[in-house]
Amino acid sequence: MAKKIRVTVWNEFRHEKESAAIAKIYPDGMHVAIAAGLRKDPQFEVRTATLDEKEHGLTQKVLADTDVLTWWGHMAHGEVKDEIIDRAQQRIIEGMGLIVLHSGHYSKMFKRMMGTSCALRWREANEKARLWVVEPGHPIADGLPAYFELPHEEMYGERFDIPNPDAVVFISWFAGGNVFRSGCTFTRGKGRIFYFQPGHETYPNYFDPNVQRVIANAARWAAPGDGPVMKLGDSEPPLEKL
Ligand code: ZN
Repeated sequence: MAKKIRVTVWNEFRHEKESAAIAKIYPDGMHVAIAAGLRKDPQFEVRTATLDEKEHGLTQKVLADTDVLTWWGHMAHGEVKDEIIDRAQQRIIEGMGLIVLHSGHYSKMFKRMMGTSCALRWREANEKARLWVVEPGHPIADGLPAYFELPHEEMYGERFDIPNPDAVVFISWFAGGNVFRSGCTFTRGKGRIFYFQPGHETYPNYFDPNVQRVIANAARWAAPGDGPVMKLGDSEPPLEKL
């Protein structure tokens, strides 16, 4: 039995409480749908955390017990406390994985890890998205077809102001003509980061089997390995006689 991967699914959880139409799609919140997708694989031990919980549900203890953190936010990015971002950033540098979903591109969490504006073009027009796998050998593409479609998604388009990714796993085409690097990987310290575009709150795309597969693959990929603990920042004695 493979080692358990402890995933914390974080959601701002405001749209679902404030809009009846969105609550109809995600009655218990998007985090519950994302967590349910992950729980199909018993390798994952999944918990959820939301903005309005104490310390946004991301206490020292929760983060210490998290291998991979997923992040969905949109309308309340500014309410996320900087000290919680400091804490999560520290854990990422130590090796915790981070999966940033959809409008999380503009979160304090993602901007902190990227160091750029993370701005993009967008349009809410119920348009079709086609996601092309452009790195078929990447573990995040395991089990996927060459492309898959979402009948309705918010358009996110280039330029996406991110640093050059380590890998671009997906490129999306939108019916209105824009293209977007919709699945990108990064490394910060020992931590692996994946950004994935789908998941606008008014469409049921976290129930889509391909989207669920991508998030599960990304959680497996982003989970920390057993590499050495590096002691950095100290003066170094010689290993050989000088
Ligand atoms: Zn959106």
